[in-house]
Amino acid sequence: MTAAVPRSSGPPSPANGAPPVVTAAVAALEERLARSPLAPAVRRRHPLGPRTTYRVGGPALLFVPVRNRAALDLIASCTAGSEAPVLVLGRGSNLLVADAGFNGLALALEGDLAGFGVSGTAVRAGGGAPLPKLARRTVAEGLTGFEWAVGVPGSVGGAVRMNAGGHGSDMAAVLDEAEIVDLRLGSAFTAAAADLGLGYRTSNLAPHQVVAEARLRLAPGDAEAGRAALAEIVAWRRANQPGGHNSGSVFTNPDGDSAGRLIDAAGARGLRMGTARVSPKHANFIQSDEGGSAADVVALMAEVQRRVAESCGVDLVPETCLVGFDPGAAS
Ligand SMILES: Cc1cc2nc3c(=O)[nH]c(=O)nc-3n(C[C@H](O)[C@H](O)[C@H](O)COP(=O)(O)OP(=O)(O)OC[C@H]3O[C@@H](n4cnc5c(N)ncnc54)[C@H](O)[C@@H]3O)c2cc1C
Repeated sequence: MTAAVPRSSGPPSPANGAPPVVTAAVAALEERLARSPLAPAVRRRHPLGPRTTYRVGGPALLFVPVRNRAALDLIASCTAGSEAPVLVLGRGSNLLVADAGFNGLALALEGDLAGFGVSGTAVRAGGGAPLPKLARRTVAEGLTGFEWAVGVPGSVGGAVRMNAGGHGSDMAAVLDEAEIVDLRLGSAFTAAAADLGLGYRTSNLAPHQVVAEARLRLAPGDAEAGRAALAEIVAWRRANQPGGHNSGSVFTNPDGDSAGRLIDAAGARGLRMGTARVSPKHANFIQSDEGGSAADVVALMAEVQRRVAESCGVDLVPETCLVGFDPGAAS
C-alpha cells in the first residue's frame, strides 16, 4: 500500500526506557529558559499521557504551563530562532504521544489563556479554552452557531489547528480571526480565518504557531432552542460513540465514504492488539486499556490501514496527531 503520512510532530523518540536524546538545540533552549523569569515553571521529563484522552505515552523533555499572554511572549523570546521541537498541547483529545515521549518543549495554555468572553455576537476565547464549556456559554448568552462544539472535548486552539467540527458545522464557519504567536519567529500576528487554510480537519498552522486567542462571530439565537440542540448532541454522542480512553475519529473520512464503514467492511471492528482495540461500538475509534501503551495503539492503526487497503483499496489517513513517532509508524 501507499504509506499514509501521519500528522507527526517532533523527532522520533528513543525506545522506551532509553535516556532521552537531548539535541544541541534542546539543550540551548533549556539553558535560555533556565535564565529567564520562566525558570521556576519549567518542568523536566513531565508526563504527557495524563494530559491526553488516550492516557498513554511518555514525558516531554521540557514542559511549561503558560498562564497568560506575557508568559507566552516570554517563551517565544526564548524559542525564537531555535530549532528545538515544540508541541502545543490543547486538551490532548487528538494526540497520541509515543511511549518514549517527546524530546522537545511542550506548552499547555492555562489560566487567562483558557478563558473566554462574550460581547453581543462576538466571542473572544483563549487558545486553551475548553470547547464544551464555551459552547454552553454561547447558548446561555442566546447565541447560535457553536452548539456542535459541546461534543468535542478539545480546546479552542486545538479546534482551530484541526478545524474541528461536527453536526454540519466546523470552526471555519464561526472563526473570524486568530491571534497567533510564532515560536520560531518570536513574534505575534493576527490571521483572518480565510488565511488559515481551514479544510476538512486541517489548517496551515505549523507546530510552532500557537493560537493564543480566537475571535468567533456567532448569530443571535434562541436560548431554549440552543439548550435543546445541546441536549440532542450530547445524547447522540452517548448513543453512537464509545467511552473509555480514545481520541475520537482515528482516520479522516475519505471522499464520499466513511472510515468507520471501511474499517467495518475490512472486518476490523473489535480487533485487538495488546492493550488497544478497535471499538465494537464505532469502528473508527480505538480504545486504549487503562495502563496501555501508545505502541499498541499505533500498531493497531497500522494494522487497520493495512486491512482496509487490502480489502477496500483505500489508504486511510490518520486524523490523530502522532507525537514522537517515526514518520512511518502508522502507515
Ligand atoms: C470522544 C471524542 C470525540 C471527538 N469528536 C470530535 C468531533 O466531533 N469533531 C472533531 O473535529 N474532532 C473530534 N475529536 C477530536 C478532538 O477533540 C479535536 O480534534 C480537537 O479540536 C482537538 O483539540 P485539543 O485541544 O484536544 O488538541 P490536542 O489534541 O491537544 O492537539 C491537537 C493538535 O492541535 C495542536 N494544538 C493544540 N492547541 C493548540 C493551540 N493553542 N495552538 C496551536 N496548535 C494547537 C496540537 O499541537 C496538535 O497538533 C474528538 C475527540 C474525542 C476524544
